[in-house]
Amino acid sequence: MVFIAVYKNRCTGCGSCVSTCQNQVLAIEDGSCQVVRKENCRYCMDCVASCDFDAIKVFV
Ligand code: SF4
Ligand code: SF4
Repeated sequence: MVFIAVYKNRCTGCGSCVSTCQNQVLAIEDGSCQVVRKENCRYCMDCVASCDFDAIKVFV
């Protein structure tokens, strides 16, 4: 079971993780990243690498 954590206090809503994810797992809603299709996650960690604010982590 994957757990995707978005640290709202650090997320700026820049959208970098959203555009990086090939599997439409993430979206910007209400100005910050939200996990919308967790079941699509393939644990590639591209979103983690794309975030300049250390605001998203993926645990598997
Ligand atoms: S890349 Fe980081 S700061 Fe930007 S929307 Fe995603 S989690 Fe938030
Ligand atoms: S680990 Fe990969 S598939 Fe999962 S949310 Fe991040 S970019 Fe998308």
